[in-house]
Amino acid sequence: MSEQIFDVIVIGGGPGGYVAAIRAAQLGLATALIERDEIGGVCLNWGCIPTKALLHSADVLREIQGAAALGIDTGPVSFDLKRMVARSRAVAQQLNRGVTGLLKKNKVTVIKGAARFTEPGRVSVDGKQPTTLTADAIVIATGARAKSLPGIEADGKIVWSAREAMVPETLPKRLLVIGAGAIGIEFASFYRTLGSAVTVIEMLPQILPAEDAEIAAAARAAFEAAGIEIHTSTSIETLTRTGNGLNAVLKTANGLIEGTYDRAILAVGVTGNIESLGLEHTRVATDRGFIRTDHHAETAEPGIYAVGDVAGPPCLAHKASHEGVACIEHIAGLESHPLNRNRIPGCTYSHPQIASIGLTERAAAAAGRTVRIGRFPLIGNGKAIAVGDSNGLIKTVFDTTTGELLGAHMVGPGVTELIQGFAIAIGAEVTEAELIATVFPHPTISEAMHESVLAAYGRALHI
Ligand SMILES: Cc1cc2nc3c(=O)[nH]c(=O)nc-3n(C[C@H](O)[C@H](O)[C@H](O)COP(=O)(O)OP(=O)(O)OC[C@H]3O[C@@H](n4cnc5c(N)ncnc54)[C@H](O)[C@@H]3O)c2cc1C
Repeated sequence: MSEQIFDVIVIGGGPGGYVAAIRAAQLGLATALIERDEIGGVCLNWGCIPTKALLHSADVLREIQGAAALGIDTGPVSFDLKRMVARSRAVAQQLNRGVTGLLKKNKVTVIKGAARFTEPGRVSVDGKQPTTLTADAIVIATGARAKSLPGIEADGKIVWSAREAMVPETLPKRLLVIGAGAIGIEFASFYRTLGSAVTVIEMLPQILPAEDAEIAAAARAAFEAAGIEIHTSTSIETLTRTGNGLNAVLKTANGLIEGTYDRAILAVGVTGNIESLGLEHTRVATDRGFIRTDHHAETAEPGIYAVGDVAGPPCLAHKASHEGVACIEHIAGLESHPLNRNRIPGCTYSHPQIASIGLTERAAAAAGRTVRIGRFPLIGNGKAIAVGDSNGLIKTVFDTTTGELLGAHMVGPGVTELIQGFAIAIGAEVTEAELIATVFPHPTISEAMHESVLAAYGRALHI
């Protein structure tokens, strides 16, 4: 078995891992990236990107179906699910090839196989050519996988995980989505637009549990208006697979209800890929399925780092890549920019879209902050009315004493692109006065962000 020596070894080629590897190579460090499956990880191959390709097809379909209101007659509109799925897979493959090329261009040594620690500073790879690698710094970026519920496992046929839900062969007539986080809601929105009868259940009292309650309520009203049946504070009492479908008894706040569905999607969160890494040969500590790290992403074993989903929530690609870069810069002795978990935007690409950053009103109150709230409904925004999509709300949360923007929460068209404006504002710690003095272009939906800030100070102009 050969032995190779590097400055940095990265385990896992998802956004946390490949970005870390590229940054390390940019800094002149001899870098190896070990990936057991596909470069790009869940994000590029089976997560963010292919789902957004599918959701884009659904958005276009919805727009065409609503074209008559814009003075455009299309005749009957149909779609081909197979071609939608094929395009989504082609997009994922294009990005996979792109990232593979970037790693090559940056002279990262890519090794195919599953890595396992044999001792701190040393991993073995059980690929085609078993090898041992050593380095002073090893970054674990092995991601996470979908969780099951006690007694309910995804079987890939009747009960889908996100993977099968992304490559349907036929459209389920009746679909049960278990879990109303971002992933569950995106699938619910996609399938509803295509015509499935969709029921979403969530154990917690609100859908999109990480979002501000008011925004989640506005999003729920829009999903229900689109025909999605939603039950919160609801769990599965029994789930019985039948010939080509399932029966589910749902335990709601108002008693038991029974439903028959063609397929169910299980979207109840993720757990870190920490098994089979040989962590028992190190002092790396774990907590409830994830690796524990400090603010430089270093584990309890000096020289071993963990970034991305495997290092704990929020399990988002941009959190993974930011941590990857910051961790490598720390390893290289640069002044790095550690992740502030309160400043990570979260987006749901359903229709309507939902996007947020920072503290919700409830979290701010729980943190003992006295807050001023700004609210601006998109019905007061000229551009939203012009594009025929004025159902939405922008909410801002300010600290009453300091004027600090603590959080921003949005539901409506294009908000997943707009949230970055507030991300920059929060990151740069701008004051309410600076936000008020900022010029927003007209006519844009971004003007509603400005109005929401103005509203927090009793100065909204268009409501
Ligand atoms: C359906 C879906 C939609 C999503 N949409 C979004 C979205 O819109 N926006 C967003 O920010 N996030 C989204 N996510 C989450 C996002 O995909 C993850 O947060 C992101 O992929 C995490 O990146 P990572 O690098 O930590 O891990 P991953 O992308 O999971 O990559 C980890 C890699 O490590 C490899 N690996 C594991 N163990 C080993 C080993 N022992 N040896 C070698 N290789 C190993 C795996 O094969 C994998 O390729 C979505 C997820 C899903 C499932």
